[in-house]
Amino acid sequence: MLSHDVVIVGSGLAGLRAALEVVGHLDVAVITKVYPSRSHSGAAQGGVAAAMANVDGDSTDAHIYDTVKGADFIGDQDAIEIMCNDAPHVIVDMERLGCPFSRTGENKIAQRAFGGHSFKRSCYSADRTGHALLHTLFEQSMKKGGKLQFYNEYYLMRLIVEENICRGVVAMDMKTGKLEVFHAKSVMFGTGGYGRAYKITSNAYANTGDGISAAYRAGVPLQDMEFVQFHPTGLYQHGLLLSEAARGEGGYILNGNNERFMANYAPSKLELAPRDIVSRSEQTEIIQGRGAGPKKDYVLLDLRHLGKEKILERLPQIYHIAKDFIGVDALEKPVPIQPTAHYSMGGIPADNDCQVVANERGDLVKGFFAAGECSCISVHGANRLGTNSLLEALVFGTRAGKKILEKTTEAKWAPVNESREISAARREIDQILHNKGTESLAAIREELQTTMTDKVGVYRGKDDMEAAHEKIRELQDRFRNVKVDNKKSVFNTNLTEALELGHMLEYSELIVAGAQTRQESRGAHARNDFPDRDDKEWMKHTMAFRTDDGGYELKYRPVRVTRFQPEERKY
Ligand SMILES: Cc1cc2nc3c(=O)[nH]c(=O)nc-3n(C[C@H](O)[C@H](O)[C@H](O)COP(=O)(O)OP(=O)(O)OC[C@H]3O[C@@H](n4cnc5c(N)ncnc54)[C@H](O)[C@@H]3O)c2cc1C
Repeated sequence: MLSHDVVIVGSGLAGLRAALEVVGHLDVAVITKVYPSRSHSGAAQGGVAAAMANVDGDSTDAHIYDTVKGADFIGDQDAIEIMCNDAPHVIVDMERLGCPFSRTGENKIAQRAFGGHSFKRSCYSADRTGHALLHTLFEQSMKKGGKLQFYNEYYLMRLIVEENICRGVVAMDMKTGKLEVFHAKSVMFGTGGYGRAYKITSNAYANTGDGISAAYRAGVPLQDMEFVQFHPTGLYQHGLLLSEAARGEGGYILNGNNERFMANYAPSKLELAPRDIVSRSEQTEIIQGRGAGPKKDYVLLDLRHLGKEKILERLPQIYHIAKDFIGVDALEKPVPIQPTAHYSMGGIPADNDCQVVANERGDLVKGFFAAGECSCISVHGANRLGTNSLLEALVFGTRAGKKILEKTTEAKWAPVNESREISAARREIDQILHNKGTESLAAIREELQTTMTDKVGVYRGKDDMEAAHEKIRELQDRFRNVKVDNKKSVFNTNLTEALELGHMLEYSELIVAGAQTRQESRGAHARNDFPDRDDKEWMKHTMAFRTDDGGYELKYRPVRVTRFQPEERKY
């Protein structure tokens, strides 16, 4: 058995920022299934939001209000206030750690416009902001010295919680197949989102939401899983992201008739309305027959008027993605786009110090923390504003680190039954490797992803959701007989893909169940049969609990409102 004071699962911005706070004081392990600098945070393009006082008129209060409104009033306002107040400090902090932010002519940190933000507020490093931030944190955490051990290419199998006390995790060394119990006084998850449950997604292959359902399997509820963000500018048919920075820099969105149709949906903000609104507008254009292309099933992102210099200097990655993947030169032609599954607003419920919440009353799971995309704190409510996510990971990663330091220093070791934990993880692997099944892993995954994109997407219909729910149950059944050809233990990616699929099947049911039950439209959750927001009935967070028979039960938790009462959301 391995033992560390603190085990952090995930080496994205949230995990590494927390680690940096604790290293030098306690013995820390970071477990990650991909090499740290390949975490999805490194793919973030557009920027990180903060009212830096570099832009006339902007203020932390404006950032708070924009975020509350963007969240369609279901975000917890005390958490939003913390995030926006801390924002300028974490940017300065990252800069001092060495992050190379792009600059204005006056040598201030440059800021660009993003959807739903009423000022130019997003600090950036060209269109590779996540890359710059992630590498800075990785380097600094190693430089700091102290007891910090990275377990790279270790796959989290189980979270160990007994009597409401978290005691560690079980992970598999992917290089050898060996199972290890990591005994810890505190465990933090920074395990990222689950975009891969969808066919069309901007997310990396690793974003299968394992941590979210590992927590759920250990008895932790999941919050607001029905809120899945669709980003309006995914590359047609691929889903790869063309950052909102393209619109922040002045890009247009056109329909098949060459019209800037956003004028009909969000007359004042146009393309810079929040993502839920732009995605729905695109989908409406496509449904009503005004899409582009032979099948009229996409719209267009037009950058041509920005000119070569601006495109290549500020948006180089976007330019190359369009060119390399679908052969469109954005200097010459508009780029085909469609909404793509991008971000999970829901996840592991946690308080403002990232301590995981055990139930609708707000009791805590001792020694368990969550931050970043896997958590639901909830600063994004029903719809996240662009560039608020890197911010969330930095702000709450820091807060998690501080709280972990405080709590771990005073905590005692809670015992772990090593052989029982290893046997449970082994059983899960054996069930996958040694069933007599014939079901194709790739086919089940494909059917799940297609179902989620087609039936639980930008718009949600009653019949579609029922069909999706039924399909997911069928796929869960078939998964029990999934066939994995590779039976070896060395780097068995066939096995890890099956483990990931097991997670996807588990929480996808909760996405659908939450969406079926929430009889209103709010933020990213848009129902055909309940098109309006219903504040009387639905100003509350969904909480899904796992029942003993493997089913689920939904309960609800109030939203924390401090300064802003719900109002009609117009842009
Ligand atoms: C293409 C793209 C562009 C984006 N652009 C922006 C942007 O410009 N601005 C913005 O604010 N947000 C952006 N986002 C969102 C933002 O990048 C993410 O929400 C954020 O980086 C998540 O950080 P994280 O630390 O929570 O998790 P991640 O960076 O996703 O890291 C997750 C970590 O968990 C580990 N992990 C997961 N499962 C396991 C397991 N089973 N075992 C072991 N380890 C595991 C992984 O190895 C990884 O290290 C973008 C997202 C995408 C996909």
